[in-house]
Amino acid sequence: MLPYYKRMEDWHSGGRGGDKTWRGKGGPLHVTRGPGTNRLTRAFIKAGGQAGYELTSDYNGEKQEGFGPFDATIWKGKRWSAASAYLRPAQATGNCDVIQGTAARVVMDNGRATGVELTDGRVIEASVEVIIAASAINSPKLLMLSGIGPAAHLSEHGIDVVADRAGVGQNLQDHLELYVQMAAKGRHSLYKYWSMIAKAWVGARWLFTKSGIGASNQFEAAGFIRSKAGLNYPDIQFHFLPIAVRYDGTGAQEGFQAHVGPMRSKSRGAVTLTSADPKADPNIFFNYMSHPDDWEEFRNCIRLTREIFGQDAFAKYRGAEVLPGADAQSDEALDAAIREDVESAYHPCGTCKMGRADDPLAVVDPQGRVIGVAGLRVADSSIFPRITNGNLNAPSIMVGEKIADHVLGKAPLAPSNDAPWIHPEWKTAQR
Ligand SMILES: Cc1cc2nc3c(=O)[nH]c(=O)nc-3n(C[C@H](O)[C@H](O)[C@H](O)COP(=O)(O)OP(=O)(O)OC[C@H]3O[C@@H](n4cnc5c(N)ncnc54)[C@H](O)[C@@H]3O)c2cc1C
Repeated sequence: MLPYYKRMEDWHSGGRGGDKTWRGKGGPLHVTRGPGTNRLTRAFIKAGGQAGYELTSDYNGEKQEGFGPFDATIWKGKRWSAASAYLRPAQATGNCDVIQGTAARVVMDNGRATGVELTDGRVIEASVEVIIAASAINSPKLLMLSGIGPAAHLSEHGIDVVADRAGVGQNLQDHLELYVQMAAKGRHSLYKYWSMIAKAWVGARWLFTKSGIGASNQFEAAGFIRSKAGLNYPDIQFHFLPIAVRYDGTGAQEGFQAHVGPMRSKSRGAVTLTSADPKADPNIFFNYMSHPDDWEEFRNCIRLTREIFGQDAFAKYRGAEVLPGADAQSDEALDAAIREDVESAYHPCGTCKMGRADDPLAVVDPQGRVIGVAGLRVADSSIFPRITNGNLNAPSIMVGEKIADHVLGKAPLAPSNDAPWIHPEWKTAQR
């Protein structure tokens, strides 16, 4: 996949190092590093090293494992979305029409997709094929509404079966995370910008100059570690934030936090239909924390984060632990905190998984074509067979890059022989 990641990217190191040989230049997707000047952000990277972990100049380069600067899809102070990178430039060529509407189902004729019906009754005819990219929730929903899915489930809702594919909607995966939150001494966190006046200043500065702290998502330090010896890839990710605050904006205080969670949960959920009506919401059952290992992994995440926050690098700044709270030490207390505070990282995937035709749960083949029907592809995060051990935006875009080559009948880019760095003592050492 590396050649596709490189092709899609225009990487800007921001003067914070990096692994040029693994990064792309000149692609449509701008990827930038924030300045990383906040003292707490710098302390986090240093503390990772003090705790005995690797440092990495580029977790998107050869060496994912370790602590280092975070990348973001931001360009010139603005979020650089897939629409900025691909859709708007395509529209500017005059070869791309955007029709707004909600797809109700794919029109199937004798096992071939011939178009898309919208919820307002309009039908868009396909000249060559139909490509669904409606997310890990809505792509399987659309397939099922079109008669492609587990036959018994479709029949239950009175939908004619076009292709009996047991895997449609199954294999749902996500990343869960919680914040380990610390109060902080001094005024080094972003809390100093929390008043209405300060927020107005930050907003105005961003609006007129696209600079200042409003020009960054503030996740400027990351960590990828292995939870135990015997794993040859990092299975825990940290996002560090130099303020203590909940995602919904409540509970802000002078502090800092790491969002932490296991990257490869063994729990699997499913997206199923509640009705044949396209306007009805599907049933989204994540089945979170259903595997006993999830609990052990999460407890481990909290304990390892506390150890990092306990390093000298934080000595000047560290106040009391806010979440889960210093009282939560036993497995039982940590489990209670996990139940209370765990949140989705919003990384659903896997519900139209790619696989070989003889895999009964595969939904699409290696070119993204829906198995068992003609003229239909899926190109989004639903086709991941297994969740990535990092965030999903870039891998989802990479899927689009690769499947575009298949749609156009181009030869795939030559595979890369570059192997990622693996800790030389991974079999016996956790760090
Ligand atoms: C709040 C939040 C924060 C996130 N933060 C990060 C992050 O920091 N880093 C990261 O890497 N990832 C992040 N992610 C995850 C990342 O955004 C997703 O993994 C990625 O966008 C998945 O891409 P996709 O193409 O599969 O689906 P989407 O990006 O969801 O695209 C699906 C598209 O299909 C459209 N659609 C759905 N149903 C229909 C229909 N019936 N008819 C017509 N159109 C339809 C939707 O409107 C949408 O535009 C975040 C996600 C969320 C929600």
